Amino acid sequence: MMAQSKALLVLENFIGGKFIPCSSYIDSYNPSTGDVYCKVPDSGKEEVEAAVKAAKDAFPIWSSKSPWERSQILNKLADLIEHDLEAFAQAESKDQGKTITFARTVDIPRAVYNFRFFASSILHHITECTEMATMGCVHYTSRAPVGVAGLISPWNLPLYLLTWKIAPAIACGNTVVAKPSEMTSVTAWMMCKLLEKAGVPHGVVNIVFGTGAKAGEALVCHPDVPLVSFTGSTLTAQRITEKSAPYCKRLSLELGGKNPAIIFDDADLSQCIPTTLRSSFANQGEICLCTSRIFVQRGIYSEFLKRFVAEAKKWKTGNPSDPAVDVGALISKEHLQKVRNYVKKAQAEGARVLCGEGVDALDLPPGNQKGYFMLPTVIAEVKDESCCMQEEIFGPVTCVVAFDTEEEVIKRANGVKYGLAATVWSSNVGRVHRVAHRLQSGWVWTNCWLVRDLNLPFGGMKASGIGREGAKDSYEFFTEVKTITIKH
Ligand code: NAD
Repeated sequence: MMAQSKALLVLENFIGGKFIPCSSYIDSYNPSTGDVYCKVPDSGKEEVEAAVKAAKDAFPIWSSKSPWERSQILNKLADLIEHDLEAFAQAESKDQGKTITFARTVDIPRAVYNFRFFASSILHHITECTEMATMGCVHYTSRAPVGVAGLISPWNLPLYLLTWKIAPAIACGNTVVAKPSEMTSVTAWMMCKLLEKAGVPHGVVNIVFGTGAKAGEALVCHPDVPLVSFTGSTLTAQRITEKSAPYCKRLSLELGGKNPAIIFDDADLSQCIPTTLRSSFANQGEICLCTSRIFVQRGIYSEFLKRFVAEAKKWKTGNPSDPAVDVGALISKEHLQKVRNYVKKAQAEGARVLCGEGVDALDLPPGNQKGYFMLPTVIAEVKDESCCMQEEIFGPVTCVVAFDTEEEVIKRANGVKYGLAATVWSSNVGRVHRVAHRLQSGWVWTNCWLVRDLNLPFGGMKASGIGREGAKDSYEFFTEVKTITIKH
């Protein structure tokens, strides 16, 4: 089942309930050491074809199970992952570079909860019914699973985001072919080992590992995959939209962000500062919901900046498996370079880097010297038109700028192509509502960040996505609705 050479972990595709080796492999790095430690299948059309066939074969039986039967299986899978939580957390930290603390307290518990949540929510949906008494008719809707769902997920929250798709897809009665990011495939592969024990029939969940260009596109272009749920960058979403257009597929696209935090002068800074540090730097800033533009009202700008920078300097960067560490490694050498380049560009434009990259020295343990680390970095006096204020950096870098009026800050906060998440800090309830309504953002948090209720729609406006995920939204995406009229 698991092939392991002396040093390297070798993953296999999971198709039709079996682990199947691949003819070629991609190197996967441990971001905190820079070493290759794992081989990931470099799947292509052939592997995707086999996985789609297995999923198609499993569909009639799985889709005919009652929601209650499927719910029990999802709950069992949640229990099994939870039982192995520590092993999953260790693997996620090693594979992604995130801190063990974050993997233990956020990634894996949420993966468990994704299965529990959809195991429960699938039992509580109701369909619609209307009566047309004068015509002697009643109309009602019925919902059915669509078929084989193609699921493609990114590297930043690997198992968390993959299960956020697998759970609703299979709860609704679909079968799936999933492709995790080629950079973070290990926990998906570990989960495959638990599927049989949980009672998931063979072929219901198939995982094909590999790159986006080969495995991802083969899945997107497969004629027997009528729906694709994708989380990743806006650029890739454009490519997926183009490639899938000839097949008229149903797409859900959860994409990037350039999220503002707006801090008014009546904000409670004792809450706002620690939360904004988290929203800027949690998971190395590699969360689509991370804050990267902080607008502070002029009256408190200097005080905020002083306190914010002083606190940012306290964040410890280093070995992700050290529980005292706050910032782990970035995902790859290339990504680290890209994030560093943004800081260089800001400096070249005349912005001030107040802490972190290029200002403070990294202090890494000997074993981590070749890892992809970067200190939390705060940039001030950066222009709204700068690429640092317009483009998604996706690293531990945040920009702080001053504003004067409510009207002005709304316009500036909306002045980017993205619209995923925003945060507003103020003790004025009227203002909080007014601003929240006018922000072009799929989610607005006020006086908090990342407090989620999975029942509610999650997703982005503008270049941040198409569609929403959540109890009702995912149910609607992963089912086909039919209206039936009965005349009596
Ligand atoms: P990415 O777009 O490079 O890759 C995402 C996934 O798509 C990977 O599995 C990749 O292999 C695959 N892929 C790449 N090219 C493909 C193609 N041509 N066809 C099919 N699949 C392809 O994104 P990433 O770098 O892995 O992730 C970071 C991005 O994801 C950021 O922009 C971040 O904001 C976004 N993100 C969004 C959300 C959200 O919920 N809105 C959540 C997490 C991450």
